[in-house]
Parts: sequence; structure tokens; C-alpha cells
Amino acid sequence: MGYAMKTELVETGLPKPVHRLSEEELAEKRAMTEIGAEVVAYMESYMRRKGFVQLMPVLLSPITDPLWPDPAAGIYKRLEFEIYGKTVRTMHSMIVHKLVAVSLLHKKIFIVSPNIRLEKPERSKTGRHLFEFSQLDFEARGATSKQIRKLIEGMLAGLVKHIGSSKKAELSSLHASLPKFSTPFKVLSREELEARYGTDWEEELPKHIDEPVWITDLPREFYDFEDPVTHKWDNFDLYLPKRGELVTGAKREYEHSKMLAKMRKAGVKEELYATLLDLAKDGKIKQSAGAGIGVERLIAWITSARHIGEVQPFPKIPGAVYEL
Ligand code: ATP
Ligand code: ASP
Ligand code: MG
Repeated sequence: MGYAMKTELVETGLPKPVHRLSEEELAEKRAMTEIGAEVVAYMESYMRRKGFVQLMPVLLSPITDPLWPDPAAGIYKRLEFEIYGKTVRTMHSMIVHKLVAVSLLHKKIFIVSPNIRLEKPERSKTGRHLFEFSQLDFEARGATSKQIRKLIEGMLAGLVKHIGSSKKAELSSLHASLPKFSTPFKVLSREELEARYGTDWEEELPKHIDEPVWITDLPREFYDFEDPVTHKWDNFDLYLPKRGELVTGAKREYEHSKMLAKMRKAGVKEELYATLLDLAKDGKIKQSAGAGIGVERLIAWITSARHIGEVQPFPKIPGAVYEL
């Protein structure tokens, strides 16, 4: 457990805004953000080495991730407003833009994508939820889930080694111990976990593992691939010991009829996704697979932070709006 928790968290129970930190706490924040910058730089260069083209993020668009149906979603408010006579939303995730860009632009893309999700205030206590965060979000045309998982395993192994050798002083000033693991990670199915831990497996699993674990076959949004015969979902999450989810990804639906049927079944407004559906109808959406890695969750894991807000220069903690 990091030193940061002892100081920053002592008074309020939550990370404080940067302008209220003591000299000692500022030194910790410097170490955290220094390591954070190196994590982002490493991930960007890893993705480029693997042939992915970096795109700039989208912040406002009529289309965003519905985050529905997702049993884990805890959104308290969805932000939408009018500009130039059109309704736009803040990005929950760039999933729809990824599907379009990977089909029409480049075979492999990635974005360091800022997301706004107004999580319920009680989520400040999970230690892993923010209302502004970023994903390293990527997609590859023609890829399989297995290839995406392998790419992420390679990234995490390389990253931990790199931070261990390049950020020794910062890690030791935070009393952080780098995670230890070997790859490939174990793959478990949701069904196995439900049998073992019941429907509460998402909370239980992190207490019982000491290395990251992949979970597959998670029923959720229309864009993840569901086998029409077995109804198994070709998707996955990566769970970390004690911390829970770090990554979500999947092979994708690309057929118009399947996407539409799933939207209707879930009660997702199909008119909001008309552009995607039209492209799919014209055969322009190609099969792909991809994932999103929570950047702040990753930095918190690497630095042994107790609360994810510790890694942000300007913490965005559900329920707490600071001056900056
Ligand atoms: P959770 O179940 O933990 O709330 P989620 O499954 O709703 O997360 P996804 O929609 O899968 O989240 O988002 C992709 C990734 O973005 C997650 O795996 C996680 O690493 C990160 N992420 C999602 N929501 C948040 C948040 N509120 N704060 C910080 N990181 C987040
Ligand atoms: N980024 C995720 C994915 O690629 C989508 C999400 O944010 O939930 O599956
Ligand atoms: Mg998820």
C-alpha cells in the first residue's frame, strides 16, 4: 500500500485537491504524475511499434457508448446538450467511433481517450471510479479476442519492467511495490465464477487472486459479439488482485441485423445509432476486435495508490467537485 494514502487520505478519506496539499504531499503527487507520464508514453510507443495509428480523441458527439445493458454500470446522470441546433453527448467511450474508424480509415487504431461518466457519488468509496478518466482505447480489423489479450499481456509485462528500471526513485519515494505476475494470464469464464462466488463474483474475485485474470463471456452492450447459436459472448475483462477490473474488450458485432436486434432487445434507442446501422447495412462495418485499458486504474496499480484520485493532478472523484 502506498505512502500517499497515509497522508492525503487521512483527513477527508479522499484525495485532496492539488492546491491544498502540503509540501510532503506535493512531492508524492510529483512522483505519481511523473510515473503516470511514463506509463502513457510507454503505452503509446508500444502501440505504435505494433503498427497501430494514433488518432486524436473525440469529446462531443451525437453518438456515444450507451453503457447499456451493463450490469456493472452505475451512472447517475447522462450529459447531453444542444450545440448548433443538434444534441451532443460527452463521451462515455469512443466505441462507435472506433468501429467506424477501424472499418474506414486504418486497420489498427488507438486513442488516449478522455471519458466523462457521472458515476453515482457512492462510487467514490470503491477507490477505482472517477467521473473523468482516460482509456487507452484500441481496435484492430480482423483480429481475434485472443490476439488482443496477448497484445495487452505483452504491454503490461513490458510496462512493469520499464517502470521498474526507469522510475526507481519515484517508486521508492511512494513506497510502491510493483505488481508481480507471469504471462499468459489465466482465462476463466463468467459461468465458472458464478458457480464459485455467485452473482457477486465481480466483488469477490479480486479478493481471491494474486495475479491478473481474464474473464470471458460477459453479456453486455450490442457491440460485443454474441454467438447466435450458443449465446456465448466473445468478450473479456481483465481483473487485478484486490483492485478489480482494469480492461474491457471484445470481438465485435458488424452485421446490421444482429446489432439492430440486440438494440431492440435491450431497449437502446436505435435512432441514436442510425449512422452506424446505415454503414453496417451497406456492408461498410468490418469485423474487428479491441479493448479499452483504464489509464488511471493502471497507474494506480503500478504505484500502489489506494484511491485512483491520487494519480490525477486534479482529482475527479464521484460526488466531489473541487475548485480546479
Ligand atoms: P466498472 O465495472 O469498474 O464500473 P465498467 O465495466 O463500467 O467499469 P467499461 O465500460 O468497461 O467500464 O470501461 C472500460 C475501462 O475504462 C474499464 O475497464 C476501466 O479500466 C475504465 N473505467 C471505466 N469506468 C471508469 C471510471 N468511472 N473511473 C476510472 N476508470 C474507469
Ligand atoms: N473501450 C471498451 C471496449 O473497447 C468499451 C468501453 O469503454 O466499455 O470494449
Ligand atoms: Mg467493463
